[in-house]
Amino acid sequence: MKNVLDKIYENYAEKERELLLGAYKYAEQMHANQKRASGEPYFTHPCAVAEILIDLGLDAPTVAAAFLHDVIEDTPATKEDIVQQFGEEVYTLVDGVTKLDKIHYQTHEEEDIENFRKIFVTMANDVRVIIIKLADRLHNMRSLNYLSTERQQRIAKETLEIYTPLAGRLGISQVKCELEDLCLKYLDPTAYEYLVTNIHQKLAERRSLIDTCVTELNEILDESGIKGEVFGRPKHFYSIYKKMKNSGKTLDQIYDLSAVRVIVNTTEECYEVLGKIHKKWKPVPGRIKDYIATPKRNLYQSLHTTVVTDFGQIFEIQIRTFEMHHMAEYGIAAHWRYKEQKGGTDNNFDARLSWIRDVMDWEGSAGSSKEFVESLKTDLYTNELLVFTPKGKVISLPLEATPIDFAYAIHSEVGNKCVGAKVNSKIVPLNSTLHTGDVVEILTSPNSKGPSWDWLKYVKSGSARGKIRQFFKKEMKEENARTGKSMLDAEAKRKGYNLNDILTDESFEKLSKKLVFASQEEMFASVGYGAVSVNQVIYKLIDYYKKEVPKPVDSFPDKNGAGNSASSVTIRGMGGLAVRFAHCCNPVPGDDIVGFVSRGRGVIIHRKDCPNLADYEEDRIQPAQWTADTGSEFIVGLRVTAEDDSGLLAFITAEVAAMHLYVTQLNGRLDKNKQAVVDLNVRLNRRSDLDLLINHLKKDKRIIDVYRTSG
Ligand code: MN
Repeated sequence: MKNVLDKIYENYAEKERELLLGAYKYAEQMHANQKRASGEPYFTHPCAVAEILIDLGLDAPTVAAAFLHDVIEDTPATKEDIVQQFGEEVYTLVDGVTKLDKIHYQTHEEEDIENFRKIFVTMANDVRVIIIKLADRLHNMRSLNYLSTERQQRIAKETLEIYTPLAGRLGISQVKCELEDLCLKYLDPTAYEYLVTNIHQKLAERRSLIDTCVTELNEILDESGIKGEVFGRPKHFYSIYKKMKNSGKTLDQIYDLSAVRVIVNTTEECYEVLGKIHKKWKPVPGRIKDYIATPKRNLYQSLHTTVVTDFGQIFEIQIRTFEMHHMAEYGIAAHWRYKEQKGGTDNNFDARLSWIRDVMDWEGSAGSSKEFVESLKTDLYTNELLVFTPKGKVISLPLEATPIDFAYAIHSEVGNKCVGAKVNSKIVPLNSTLHTGDVVEILTSPNSKGPSWDWLKYVKSGSARGKIRQFFKKEMKEENARTGKSMLDAEAKRKGYNLNDILTDESFEKLSKKLVFASQEEMFASVGYGAVSVNQVIYKLIDYYKKEVPKPVDSFPDKNGAGNSASSVTIRGMGGLAVRFAHCCNPVPGDDIVGFVSRGRGVIIHRKDCPNLADYEEDRIQPAQWTADTGSEFIVGLRVTAEDDSGLLAFITAEVAAMHLYVTQLNGRLDKNKQAVVDLNVRLNRRSDLDLLINHLKKDKRIIDVYRTSG
């Protein structure tokens, strides 16, 4: 028997041989000490896969990639190694196969299976990647007997659901038939044994009859002066098995266990031979099929007829040209075959191209034959994003969809209670973009107050947008609107403005561009409900107002630095003094405070425990108190130390947002102990919120400490 090296020598030009031998040696070395379940050296597997592809006639980069298809996953080989030694094209193919290996295929519901095939094709990017995977699977199926029964069944089922239909669509019937028979062997061993024994026996009984038929067909060719080949070929077991299952017939009732094929040179000869056969033997009505005039979806072409011979037997006869025959056996792989044989041209190219489009739902305009291989680097199904639930169910979303879309696609309640998301086991921001093949997990909390208005900016699917709006609509009764309006009124006053001045049609229009409100009513209601904070609205309105009406606002003596407002402090025995907040300790309402009467700079408010107070003259320090209703906002600095974790920032910002507080500044770094240090400024108006936030953050296992900084 020829080994793979002989086949390389016979089938490829010198330059290609160099590439292939290099890949062979590299894989041999990389897999050196690994073994398969059979106990054979692991390297026998990539060799066998490469050999299958050589037999199918694939090009050298594909065969090289076959040798290397497991090295990235299972050996120390790196991307750089492979790119450097074998080039970008080979690496891309290897990488494609490696990515497909990582998809988890778990469910067996019909809809999911179809989606899974789509994911497979989409992720492959290049049809050759799928062909390598098919060859890989074929060899694994051939050596399946070394695995446990349970794994055999699982793999066979997956093969039948995913791989054989793909082989069928690509028209590679050789691979499809062998895979199907192997699947049957493991999925229904009793039926398989029965068919193997009985079909062989029946074929043996019929052998002489088949021979007679072949002889008579050869005579027809001779008489007509047509050159061609005639042979009888048993059908593969799985197709007979399916026929028995679907029609409820027994083996004895199925007469076309084998088909006789006539292969000639031209299409005209096909029809001529068909005519002569029908003249000689009686055709069975309704069994004549012209797949030459109307090819199958995978471009299969042939004439089929079933006849009753004069020696009393029923035969199915298939008539086709040599080229059609190649296409029937090798499907898309025939492209590379013809490229080799005809020096780079492929006559049937346009038909084949449109076939792939049709089969794979391709979009785009027709290309030239030069673009063919280029166009095989597909992005098929470009209008759809397919991702998995942790249980393996496939969810279809619009392109660039986010975890929020995903959450609402699962269920509106999942969306409404969503507080975070994991993609491929990593925590990500809710507005990150998903990619086909991602495994997405939604984190929910029963305490979640519901969606945030920001989400409307992030979602890509109409249904998610609708569900979010519906949520707000439902929660937004008139009462919410009334409460919201009076909250805005009060807050505007506190800041020295009149709501009627700052909320105009114009400023609302600008505001709703950012916060996506359909009407002012909707805005009031969402403030009332708490979906949007009062200040989120007020600050923006004031901002617009200031830009339009540029007049100084002097109600706050201190507007620099951290920006904490001083209108909310009373100091015993003193009125009308300018008050500002110390930057060393940044007091927030709820802190115990004192006022330091400075020379010429008014009163400076410190926290009672501020170490700087020790330096001051005691009689300049006065007791101070917060006024009861402090609606003003303060900015406080926090430092979080934690184990290094990429999801940390997302977690912190999510916690802050969950309390409807705002981060005004955020900085993360690693210290020399490889601990993450995150400094952030948070805007809030109650001391209790701060304590709550620190508590929330400390609950997370990754976080080592959280404490206030001077800001
Ligand atoms: Mn493999």
